[in-house]
Amino acid sequence: MFLRRNPLCMDPFFRHSSEHRIEPSKVTDHIIPHHGNPSLFKDPNNLGSLCISCHNQKTFMESNGHDVTYPRLTVSQLRERALLGISKPDPEVLV
Ligand SMILES: [Zn+2]
Repeated sequence: MFLRRNPLCMDPFFRHSSEHRIEPSKVTDHIIPHHGNPSLFKDPNNLGSLCISCHNQKTFMESNGHDVTYPRLTVSQLRERALLGISKPDPEVLV
């Protein structure tokens, strides 16, 4: 199960890490929206883990024409980012 192996939100907007937090993941996300494309739907490299808040924001932005992609981070990478309090916005989010 994907969320069991990826128990933390991958924090696409740096909201959690900027507050020195990690957040449990609740939603398996398709990083690139599949729009019914079976190869994107089934591609395990296209899966990300998000909390409900980040997933809602990503879905909202995509529905308004923004591309939102984010790196697939491991638990240790997410903990490191939260420890450092990284708040750098993902440039792709700002497009
Ligand atoms: Zn989140």
